[in-house]
Amino acid sequence: MAEMAHSSAAASQLGRVELGFAEEAPAWRLRSEQFPSKVGGRPAWLGAAGLPKPDALSCPRCGRPLAFLLQVYAPLPGRADAFHRSLFLFCCREPPCCSGLRVFRNQLPRKNEFYSYDPPSENPPAEAGESLHLQLKSGAHLCRVCGCLGPKACSRCHQAHYCSKEHQTLDWRLGHKQACTQLVSDNLDHTFPDHNFLFPEFEIVIETEDEILPEVVDKDDDSEIIGSMGETLEEELDSMARHESREDQVFQNFKTQIALEPEQILRYGRGIEPIWISGENIPQEKDIPNCPCGTKRIFEFQVMPQLLNYLKADRLGKSVDWGVLAVFTCAENCSLGTGYTEEFVWKQDIPETP
Ligand SMILES: [Zn+2]
Ligand SMILES: [Zn+2]
Ligand SMILES: [Zn+2]
Ligand SMILES: [Zn+2]
Repeated sequence: MAEMAHSSAAASQLGRVELGFAEEAPAWRLRSEQFPSKVGGRPAWLGAAGLPKPDALSCPRCGRPLAFLLQVYAPLPGRADAFHRSLFLFCCREPPCCSGLRVFRNQLPRKNEFYSYDPPSENPPAEAGESLHLQLKSGAHLCRVCGCLGPKACSRCHQAHYCSKEHQTLDWRLGHKQACTQLVSDNLDHTFPDHNFLFPEFEIVIETEDEILPEVVDKDDDSEIIGSMGETLEEELDSMARHESREDQVFQNFKTQIALEPEQILRYGRGIEPIWISGENIPQEKDIPNCPCGTKRIFEFQVMPQLLNYLKADRLGKSVDWGVLAVFTCAENCSLGTGYTEEFVWKQDIPETP
């Protein structure tokens, strides 16, 4: 995203929008060292310290572990402390809940203890093995099921790590029961049963939305007709029209915008206005809590309902669903320590069609 923003520096001041599209990509391109934007799989953590604890990654509604939905690499030009910067979005996929959401921000200066000062190679690494790295450079272990912090270890082999009892049970049932007794520790990282927990993995490829001028609407005719009516009637009609069609207008506007690039799964634009899918449940300023640093949060990106088509989420019956997920982040982009800072996500459902 940084490159895109630089190449259109002037336009980005005017709220140029960047769109994200889901594409298949080789596994190595989605690893942390490549600073990916991606959907599904395990999180490609940026900073290896201060990861969200299992409590912070449990569903705010039902308490079960959240699944990684996507991450966006979004450095802030001109901010040395956010030379690298990623946002990580998690959602509950446990029926009947499927509604909890949480989002975290992490950032690093260019010179840091985890990554090279130079940009990553554009070529696949010589050793492009399939094995997963379930231990961070900080030494912390990751859960075999979800790829989040795994402070609990299997008490028998001490090799398998988990975020929660729930994920240990899942892994046990689906294969660790056998692997554990074989005690072939090296093989643990190669044998991953399908836990049916992670979402399918895709790269998010970013493109800048073409500048599109809004249609010029000639309002003169209308106002002349209305002008001949009494003012009270005009106001009444206006008010009725507003009331009846606000929902339609918001939804029509959403559809018009999307029609330009129907495959978009993400719209990014720090500080711009999100596009709501419905007139219902649009957050007021008071609905967006301030960052713990005391600064207000501003809109940064939104996830579109098109992403649902890629998630195969219906494997689990009742499933994740949304119209728009809008992510708001600290306007100051503060650094509260070196870890992952929780930000705020607002969910708007798809309007019900009568
Ligand atoms: Zn839940
Ligand atoms: Zn887990
Ligand atoms: Zn074990
Ligand atoms: Zn802040």
